[in-house]
Amino acid sequence: MAERALTYSFIYSTETLAFSILAFLLFTYYRGLGRQYVKLWMLSLSALAVNQFALACESIFYQQNVGSTLDISFALLRQVSQYFHILFFIFGIYAATKEKNVTKKMQVIGISSALFIGCFAVLFYGFDTQSVFNRFYLRESLAAFIFGSAFIASAFYLFSANINHFSGKIFLIYSLLVGLRYISYSFASIIFITEDWFRYLTQNLIYLDMSLHTILGFIILIWMQGAERHVASTAINRAKYLGKHDSLTGVLNREQVLEKLTNEMKISLDQNQALCVFLLDIKHFKFVNDTYGLKIGDLILGEIAQRLNQSLLKPKVVGRLSGDSFMYVIESENGKQQKTAAEHLHALIERPYFVSQEEVHLQCSVGYCQYPCDAEVADELLQKSNLALFQAESNNIQTVKYESGMQSHGRHLLAMEKEIKQAISNEEFILHFQPQLNLKNNRLEGAEVLVRWQHPTKGLLAPGQFFDDIEALNLYSELDSYVLEKTCQTIAKWYQTYKRRVPLAINITAVEFQAPDFISNIQALLIKYAIPPVYLELEVTENVVITDIDLVMNTIVVLQNMGIKVSIDDFGTGYSSLAYLRKLPIDKIKIDRSFIQEVASNDSDLTIVKTMVELSHGLGKRVLAEGVETQQQLQLLRNIGCDAVQGYFISKPISEKEFTKYLKRK
Ligand code: C2E
Ligand code: CA
Ligand code: CA
Repeated sequence: MAERALTYSFIYSTETLAFSILAFLLFTYYRGLGRQYVKLWMLSLSALAVNQFALACESIFYQQNVGSTLDISFALLRQVSQYFHILFFIFGIYAATKEKNVTKKMQVIGISSALFIGCFAVLFYGFDTQSVFNRFYLRESLAAFIFGSAFIASAFYLFSANINHFSGKIFLIYSLLVGLRYISYSFASIIFITEDWFRYLTQNLIYLDMSLHTILGFIILIWMQGAERHVASTAINRAKYLGKHDSLTGVLNREQVLEKLTNEMKISLDQNQALCVFLLDIKHFKFVNDTYGLKIGDLILGEIAQRLNQSLLKPKVVGRLSGDSFMYVIESENGKQQKTAAEHLHALIERPYFVSQEEVHLQCSVGYCQYPCDAEVADELLQKSNLALFQAESNNIQTVKYESGMQSHGRHLLAMEKEIKQAISNEEFILHFQPQLNLKNNRLEGAEVLVRWQHPTKGLLAPGQFFDDIEALNLYSELDSYVLEKTCQTIAKWYQTYKRRVPLAINITAVEFQAPDFISNIQALLIKYAIPPVYLELEVTENVVITDIDLVMNTIVVLQNMGIKVSIDDFGTGYSSLAYLRKLPIDKIKIDRSFIQEVASNDSDLTIVKTMVELSHGLGKRVLAEGVETQQQLQLLRNIGCDAVQGYFISKPISEKEFTKYLKRK
């Protein structure tokens, strides 16, 4: 008996040492890998070491009386550590296979249950010397049953999780074996407890357990080795991947795009096929970044990349060229197919993005060109698609296909953009003034401000010579703001020097008129230069009115309330009708020059002008005729009842210096 106790305690002590070392090994792995499952297995093996330690002590102090403090303490230690061992083992399997962490809540529930069952098994009947059997059932049979069930359950879980690697399979077999061992022991311990053979079996189970524990140690070690290798290889792959790919979106970066495109070009040349190179630019992406933050912006870019990559058209190349622009290449030479592809791209981008319970909607511009007909090197293909994209963006068209001729135009625009911006900051744009004559009192009513570009090399340029570029470059707003401020400065300056204020009318483009801060800008300028609002008049074309009647109506009402006058420019050339204008609280209608040209010689034009004047007066608006070049025209307009005129017959648009002379003369 004493000899066997010694053998047992030797075996248990050896296992204690072995599992302590293993647990320590796992601890070093945990420090390196930092995965939760490693920590859980480390705890499981530590619990096993404690369990073996308790068993070793128990076998030495076997003679101790039932119910003594020593007996209860060792039993408690053994039971609780045993449950902890299985608990952390199964948690570890869950965390390792699911690649998810076991939540705090799950851990608390597990630990408290293990503690509860352990204490219950030890303390119930623990102090009752008579209840040998009950005590045995609680400490051995119940424990074996819970153990067995837990292992069988984990075997089932591993089976259904379908883990393919080697250590996963051994884990499954191990769990199944251990589970069967404990379940059958649990039942046998209840039925055959008094049989001799059962006692003999129990005494020798220690050797089976020892082998099973050894196997467990090996499995965990093999698993760790595999995990380490996996981590190392993914790290290497990731490094390779990051080198090639845009780390944010997981698609190719600029250099890789060009490299891959070159490869694809070779392949399609060999196969006698054509490619279509699309460039996409997400509109107003800055707005997303500003509103939702850079992190969300990055997530959305990632989603865009994913949508492009997974698109039905099986793209040959998908890459991100810069901030919010992407390249997308497909095999195609059929024009119709390419159009459909572009529509597909718009649909992909326009599908809503879900960001913290909100829907974000985006749009893009698309430019594309073809290989080999448009260019034969990747760089040039990119450049040509870019030109098409530029056209799309500046003209607010969804999709533009590259056409020859765009290239020189693109280069021209690029140069102009720099030049115009520089001209604005160098104040090369100057104001000319064209007087407006009031026909009722024959006095100067005010002047229209017309911009000129005092170009350093090309001389004085009229708007017709640079407005196309300004429009293509979307720089109208900048120019309008500039002219607005210069005009306010001028009114203030004339007041200071000549103690005289002249109402000035400025042309405002549709974009600027509808800009959100348009009104506040004007207000700020009026305050800055101390100008009474009645000296400022804004000219907008009819087309402004019909773009967004409600918004325009609001703006005009606010301007009117501020005391600023608004007039409709080029009247008769747009799409609106007088009926439309009736609703708008504007002051003045400016009849377009084309109607005035023929008033003297063409009866129908005279009738039209007459009707315009009568209708306008009927609506309570004043009428100014533009482009009056002759005495005859002036006389006719006077007879019709026109309120004011403007035109070469009165004066051409003149420089500031000439205009002040003109003022003094009058
Ligand atoms: P608009 O507003 O209709 O300006 C009148 C244009 O007709 C001016 O051309 C003026 O020189 C010209 N004009 C005036 N009287 C006569 C005439 O009796 N006969 C003829 N044949 N022409 C006459 P300009 O200065 O070349 O301006 C052209 C257009 O450019 C303007 O048309 C206006 O739409 C735009 N523009 C001019 N300055 C500005 C500005 O500061 N901002 C904005 N947004 N547009 C401007
Ligand atoms: Ca005008
Ligand atoms: Ca006009």
